[in-house]
Amino acid sequence: MTKKTYDFAVVGAGVFGAWTAYFLRQSGASVALLDAYGPANSRASSGGETRVIRMGYGPDELYTRWAMRSLPLWREFAARTGREREELKAEEIARRWPQLRFHDVTWGVVEPASGLLLARDAVQTLVKELVKGSVEYIPFSADAPSVSDGKLKAIQSGGESVSAGTFVFCCGPWLPKIFPELLGERIFPTRQEVFFLGAPSGSADFGPPKMPVWLHRTHADLPYALPDIEGRGFKIAFDRHGERFDPDTGSRVVGESSIARLRDYLRQHIPQLEHAPVLETRVCQYENTWNGDFLIDRHPQFENVWIAGGGSGHGFKHGPALGEYLSGRILHGAPGEPRFSLSAKLTAQNRAVY
Ligand SMILES: Cc1cc2nc3c(=O)[nH]c(=O)nc-3n(C[C@H](O)[C@H](O)[C@H](O)COP(=O)(O)OP(=O)(O)OC[C@H]3O[C@@H](n4cnc5c(N)ncnc54)[C@H](O)[C@@H]3O)c2cc1C
Repeated sequence: MTKKTYDFAVVGAGVFGAWTAYFLRQSGASVALLDAYGPANSRASSGGETRVIRMGYGPDELYTRWAMRSLPLWREFAARTGREREELKAEEIARRWPQLRFHDVTWGVVEPASGLLLARDAVQTLVKELVKGSVEYIPFSADAPSVSDGKLKAIQSGGESVSAGTFVFCCGPWLPKIFPELLGERIFPTRQEVFFLGAPSGSADFGPPKMPVWLHRTHADLPYALPDIEGRGFKIAFDRHGERFDPDTGSRVVGESSIARLRDYLRQHIPQLEHAPVLETRVCQYENTWNGDFLIDRHPQFENVWIAGGGSGHGFKHGPALGEYLSGRILHGAPGEPRFSLSAKLTAQNRAVY
């Protein structure tokens, strides 16, 4: 283990940590990026194949602005690393997508410039790019820091340590374990199930360009789906909070009752897939704040420790804007958005941002 003292140590190489490391490094500072399980690993919230990027956030214009800021940064990144994809075109719902039966929908919004991000691949590629740009990636499982003199000098892991001037903890659903007193009741990791279905043989109905990314707001639920990308299957999930979940040890096996619920939805809305084979399932976790606003703030007891998390099931797309915002706060003392502050985080769940 190196004995160097970095300007910045970013703990957590998910989408928030990787983009924060990217912007800190742009300033010329020395940056270490650490992760206990690897960039966008299978336990991490950023470890899924794909994530939706959309601009629509209802009244929460702040997140629309952030998604609009993130999209060109994702595109620049994709162009730089040769990972650009064809856009999904938009037309009128029922005519364009006869394979979907949204009889309960009276209107929809099409975002021709939005679509999906190849999540795991993007974060892992970004971290490789960071390493080429002299960010040091270190496999390291940081112990919870103990509060001493108001300044954190080093983080520890089984006798090893990493020293830095400033620490940024981007540990997603692990944040309540690292800061139990501060965040134990402010970030709620919940179990989320995702299904990949096999389309009928010879059918092109469930891949691009015939199938878009879509979200369906029903009275009871928020199903969303992504087309079959790279032959992995048509992805569908329900954006409702599951039970509390441990990101280290929680079971990632899907229950039969969840599959029955899924089949009920398919029967009503995507009849071609009612009996489709489940090719793959994933159990991931959201790391919810009380209302869905991100947490991006300085630790109240350490002047040189920052925390970024609380992606709350919608954070991935915002990675670039978050990295830019946080590095601006740290490097230039840019003003903070009150909605992201620790003091705005309540302890009773009442979801408001979708
Ligand atoms: C099923 C599902 C669907 C989603 N869909 C969307 C979507 O469509 N669009 C969208 O924008 N967002 C979506 N999200 C949300 C988005 O994926 C998350 O908000 C985002 O990935 C959070 O990133 P993160 O970097 O904060 O956390 P993570 O990706 O979890 O990264 C945290 C990292 O910290 C590391 N770590 C933890 N503890 C330590 C430690 N002590 N020492 C060192 N390293 C540590 C972990 O190994 C991990 O790699 C979805 C999430 C899920 C689960």
